Amino acid sequence: MMLSPSHGHSTDTDFTSLRPSTCIAKIGHRPIIPCNLPCRGIHFRRARGPDNNGRIVVPRNPPWTRDELILALDLFFRVNPLHTSKTNPDIVALSKTLNKLPAQGRIADASRYRNPNGVYMKLCNFLRLDPSYHGKGLTGGGKLEEVIWKEFEGDQDRLGKTAEAIKAGATEIKSGDPDIAVIATEEGEFAEGRILTILHKRRERHPDAVRKKKAMVMKEKGRLACEVCGFDFAVMYGSLGNGFAECHHTIPLPEMKTGHKTKPEDFAIVCANYHRMIHRSKPMLSVDGMREAMKKFNQ
Ligand SMILES: [Zn+2]
Ligand SMILES: [Zn+2]
Repeated sequence: MMLSPSHGHSTDTDFTSLRPSTCIAKIGHRPIIPCNLPCRGIHFRRARGPDNNGRIVVPRNPPWTRDELILALDLFFRVNPLHTSKTNPDIVALSKTLNKLPAQGRIADASRYRNPNGVYMKLCNFLRLDPSYHGKGLTGGGKLEEVIWKEFEGDQDRLGKTAEAIKAGATEIKSGDPDIAVIATEEGEFAEGRILTILHKRRERHPDAVRKKKAMVMKEKGRLACEVCGFDFAVMYGSLGNGFAECHHTIPLPEMKTGHKTKPEDFAIVCANYHRMIHRSKPMLSVDGMREAMKKFNQ
């Protein structure tokens, strides 16, 4: 049985059939959540269910993605949640931005999906990772928050640029774009998140620039050797490998000027293995960086 989520105040609520999907406090054994409605009181959120096994089914929105957490962390460094509330205009603006991002999963409860309260709570989640904060912070944040924190805490400039690039890039991708599903199932989501991964890959599929890059390298060096490891498909696979190599777009999207057109010079020739490894590194290594890292690793 699927019931749509609804709000009920404690006076007209059967507590035995209710459970909130987000709990930030408890009174006795009963979890409660603050009311978003104008009354600002305490109410219980009606759960769906029960399912076939008799369990209460609570509508859950998809977990925060890397893209979303990058935007939230960027805001965290500008807006201290301790000194503000969910009505802060920047928090409200981020809520709107997140709702406009191409959807990353099935939304179970649209009324709460990345709403200002949720954004505010996410900023509070980051408090627990902030060494300058000595209070308790809000527990219950996900593992990915910690990962993103570690990746960006020492480089707020890169964080800001990445957040701006995600916001700008989001306008180029529509909800339901098949690339979103591909990135979400592949393990290859880049450090900068799904939106920038999609845009990076689109640049790497630019047929004209890729063809020209390979032709330029062939003319100059007579072979298409990987710039990381020297692997040459033609040497290993004979005629089957002739003319084959992958092209990696070397300009990080957060560093790219608006309106930048893909050019052959933007690419590096790489083998399929190292191309994958570069995309897997977080933050993403440059071609030189990957070569150096592998030299050290193999010593
Ligand atoms: Zn690449
Ligand atoms: Zn290689």
